[in-house]
Amino acid sequence: MLSSEPISLYVHIPFCETKCPYCDFNTYAAIEPLMPSYVAALNTEIALWGELLGSPKVHTIFFGGGTPSYLPSDDIRHTMKTIHAAFNVGTDAEVTLEANPGDFTAEKLDTYLDCGINRLSIGVQSFDDDLLKMLGRRHNAADAVQAYRHAQDAGFHNISIDLMYGLPYQSMGHWQNTLRQALELAPPHISMYCLTLEGGTPMERWVEQGSMPTPDADLAADMYIAAQNDMKASGYRHYEISNWALSDKLSRHNLTYWRNEPYLGVGPGAHSYLQGCRFSAVRPPREYIRRMREGSKGAGNNSMPEVICCVPVVDEIEQIDKSLEMAETMMMGLRLDEGISVEKFTERFGTPLSHIYGDTLRELEELALIQTRDGAIRLTHRGRMLGNEVFSRFFS
Ligand code: SF4
Repeated sequence: MLSSEPISLYVHIPFCETKCPYCDFNTYAAIEPLMPSYVAALNTEIALWGELLGSPKVHTIFFGGGTPSYLPSDDIRHTMKTIHAAFNVGTDAEVTLEANPGDFTAEKLDTYLDCGINRLSIGVQSFDDDLLKMLGRRHNAADAVQAYRHAQDAGFHNISIDLMYGLPYQSMGHWQNTLRQALELAPPHISMYCLTLEGGTPMERWVEQGSMPTPDADLAADMYIAAQNDMKASGYRHYEISNWALSDKLSRHNLTYWRNEPYLGVGPGAHSYLQGCRFSAVRPPREYIRRMREGSKGAGNNSMPEVICCVPVVDEIEQIDKSLEMAETMMMGLRLDEGISVEKFTERFGTPLSHIYGDTLRELEELALIQTRDGAIRLTHRGRMLGNEVFSRFFS
């Protein structure tokens, strides 16, 4: 059904021990009794996709959520077995699991390694205990350091940590301290996210009601600049707007998204992009389980939309036409330091980049937001700070 191009696989785990007040992901606290039936439904969905797509090659797997490390490790092992039976997983596949620092036990880490997880993404967020409390996190700074060391001692060499900036109450001093402690650990990969006050979250309400200060956008921009400087001085490659890596430890899974390449997401609310179709699964875990129990809705041997419709949890399908695919390729690709290769764009779409976006590119170049170097269009330093301004031009 698919071409020989490998795909990435995202596996959604919708459980968290507690819900952080800033988080609007499709994830829930206090639904632990659903875990066994959820894992059964998830494995059924994985097996069904393997069958419908003819066991395509998979080059990256990402267990995200939610808190995958909160799930019993045998459930992760079971799911990895199902993935291997359903797909053609490359021997060098990157297999990442998102984890909270408080969840690591020796048994869990051994199971992960044993079943093929070779990369951990640890949600550290901050090395300041008061800010961690404010964020509703269950760990403190010492737990984060200990978790990192445990993972290393267990045999993980490819570890990423997540940090947050632009937080209420966070000063530049707090942020510099967090950066310093992160760099002392020298993780191969660091992601840094500016807090967004998402609609409907408790934190948005607290800020609106005035019981929490509004984060300072100018200070957040200064924090980003400070991070860029510190990371550069420590030898990290700033390969994506929010991501830094040492040597070759870029997130191969996330590169799939940024390069606008095919991926399949399984689990409630997971998004997918295959052969020009973008689709997502029903969000509530109970509804997801109920629908998977009902089973496949047909054999679907024809077009990709027909195949997708056989999967009972798929809720929305959108066909992406060529012009939208081109605009999305520009928007996502410009996030990367490698930028958009002029030659690859022409190869992919059969039309030179300059024919499609000539005027837009000239205008952005005049504004010093992009530059052409070594056959690729890239954001300038200024363009990185004003990314959304650049990206919106490709959709107008
Ligand atoms: S642990 Fe992560 S996914 Fe879970 S509620 Fe907190 S931020 Fe959201």
